[in-house]
Amino acid sequence: MTSLLSFSVKTSAKAQWINITAEVQKACGASGIAEGICVIFVPHTTAAVTLNENADPDVPPDVILALDRISPDLKEFRHSEGNSAAHTKSSIVGPSITLIVSSGRLLLGTWQGIWFNEYDGPRTRKVHVRIMGE
Ligand code: ZN
Repeated sequence: MTSLLSFSVKTSAKAQWINITAEVQKACGASGIAEGICVIFVPHTTAAVTLNENADPDVPPDVILALDRISPDLKEFRHSEGNSAAHTKSSIVGPSITLIVSSGRLLLGTWQGIWFNEYDGPRTRKVHVRIMGE
């Protein structure tokens, strides 16, 4: 059995993480799949998706700060759109993650949340969720 569900995410800052755990968990429940895998894919080149702590709200801005140090705006960048630092962060974090579906739910650690990342916002973005299993 397989299921595909898509939803939109709206960001309000240049760099921002949005917790999408509830939406993905809902897609998982709606799929009717009890045992399988879930692929979360972000079809954008300055956005990404990752798993990280969902308890302390300081974690997302701290990781954004660290990524700014790893990939600052550089005067040597050639891309005319002027957002190469955002493209770099998108590639570092990555466009997809794969999770385990068990007993009809995502198998996540206690402190893990699913975070949509934007590095060149504010924008309205799409997230695709494919669930496969039985
Ligand atoms: Zn660009």
